[in-house]
Amino acid sequence: LGGMSWESTVSYYQTINRLVAQRLGGLHSASLVMVSVDFGPLEVLLREGRWEEVGASLAAAARTLEGAGADLLVLCTNTMHNVAPRIEAAVKVPLLHIADATGERIGSAGLERVGLLGTSFTMEEPFYRSRLEEGFGLEVLVPDEAERAEVHRIIFEELCRGESLEASRDRYREIVSALVGRGAEGVILGCTEIGLLLSAADASVELFDTAAIHAEAAVDRALSKEGRSR
Ligand code: GLU
Repeated sequence: LGGMSWESTVSYYQTINRLVAQRLGGLHSASLVMVSVDFGPLEVLLREGRWEEVGASLAAAARTLEGAGADLLVLCTNTMHNVAPRIEAAVKVPLLHIADATGERIGSAGLERVGLLGTSFTMEEPFYRSRLEEGFGLEVLVPDEAERAEVHRIIFEELCRGESLEASRDRYREIVSALVGRGAEGVILGCTEIGLLLSAADASVELFDTAAIHAEAAVDRALSKEGRSR
């Protein structure tokens, strides 16, 4: 379930297909269906805190995917996982939660204290942090208030519009480095567009790109016995 923004949905589509080709060989590619929503009106609802309407809209999109034969659901955004329970209640197919995929990856890396970058919703509201803290025993650090506002602004004004500015990359590098200074052993790129701006070379600790991790987890699940027996 993509489109939020479509810039990062492109990277999901590429990662999923590349991994399926690598793992199955030959001309194999991913059998998938996509609903890519219009982010414009959804972003307005988000800004106005109208989560019930966001949830209803994404639940309808999830039902379309289920009707089209999907047997695993991937919601290509961290922020919209705030309405994951609403979506899960609307369909029978399992939703692969992005925070679970991320928490598992961080656990395998053996880290306990991580920084989190994302939209203000993801950094400030409990739906994401609590899942990592309670589900995976992680300590999650977020940037200070002014930095959070800047991280959020760059996501909506630049990254979701396909712009990667050098000045913003520098600002993100500084914010990551401040988190590391406070003890972060790794930093979660908890917005699916941040991986379009930052790469491993931009930090002294491991960066956990949620778009890549989530897409890989989807392929793992789809190609697993459990995924194929469905
Ligand atoms: N894609 C972003 C995320 O992962 C932000 C856009 C949205 O609100 O969905 O949170």
